[in-house]
Amino acid sequence: MTASRFANLLRPELADLAAYVPHTGDFEIRLDGNEAPPLLSPDARAAVAQALAAGALERYPDPRATELREAITSHVGGTSDEVLVGTGSDEVIALLLTALSQPRAGAEAATIVTPSPTFVMYRLSAAARGIRVHEVPLDDRWDLDVAQMRAAITSTNPNIVFLASPNNPTGTRMSEDRIRAVIEAAPEALVVLDEAYVAFAPASVAHLRHAYPNVALLGTVSKIGFAALRVGWFVGPAELVREIDKVRQPYNLPTPSQRAATLVLCELRAEIERVVAHVVAERERLGRELARLGFGVPPSDANFLWVETKRPAKDVFEGLAANKILVRSFHARGGRLANHLRITIGTREENDRLLEVLTRWA
Ligand code: PMP
Repeated sequence: MTASRFANLLRPELADLAAYVPHTGDFEIRLDGNEAPPLLSPDARAAVAQALAAGALERYPDPRATELREAITSHVGGTSDEVLVGTGSDEVIALLLTALSQPRAGAEAATIVTPSPTFVMYRLSAAARGIRVHEVPLDDRWDLDVAQMRAAITSTNPNIVFLASPNNPTGTRMSEDRIRAVIEAAPEALVVLDEAYVAFAPASVAHLRHAYPNVALLGTVSKIGFAALRVGWFVGPAELVREIDKVRQPYNLPTPSQRAATLVLCELRAEIERVVAHVVAERERLGRELARLGFGVPPSDANFLWVETKRPAKDVFEGLAANKILVRSFHARGGRLANHLRITIGTREENDRLLEVLTRWA
């Protein structure tokens, strides 16, 4: 049956959305997903495998994810009643949008404000719920444009403002004074600071949660080496966590994920720091080499580079793909994103191979 059979039943917004389908296919080197390179030690890997296998198969997971939420507080501070966990921050974003979707006085629909470009799930998840999305272009250094953000907030009176710092896909950190200015311009909204990539950055803005009552944080284990677990979190005011918890499915996080993520956050800190140090060192090396080849590479505080190509990005992307290397291309987005690739930092060998192929496309 075609979707048209159900046209009257479906949300009209779905007609304009496409399902999120990551690239599959036969690639030897995948630098498209902002995952960590596989550098975990055999001992750490064995400990995670043991945690994954523990727990009764017949029983539902802990619906409150008590140990995991405790582990998250030991990682980011706060108390466990300020923490909500989901199957990746993707689920947490969806829960936030479901719970905080009451149209503001006089508005037809709830609204979110985000910079652009940024992580696509804010927009997709909002659109699927009939929530309006107001996007404000980042400035020419890929930092927040405070005047435009302020204007957007004043005119749309949003429910949520999403700020990712470091930002995906640009890798840039937003300046703290600009983040503060945006928060102060939106005292009636929830401002969500998404720190998915904070492990690779020299500083965090998590402390702003204590300076402003309308600020919350998002975090994840996906970028530091554990994307397979699908564990992400929200840290915010307990009164808000209690409400969002009402739209969460009781057993949203499988036992293996809860156990393994708890182990990761409590006992594998040194391992993670080692992998992160590798990524940061390789990011700096790759950035320097790409700049030497003539690519535009703004400073990145994440585990990927935002690379401007001189030749059409589509050609460079296809040239890499022909060599079995997958990166993310933004050529289809047009405008000032058109000649950009987002390249995840891989192992040293993967990065060398990437450089070798890119030499031909400089
Ligand atoms: N936030 C940002 C800024 C991201 O780039 C991503 C992953 N691409 C996520 C959140 C989602 O992470 P998770 O794997 O926890 O769903």
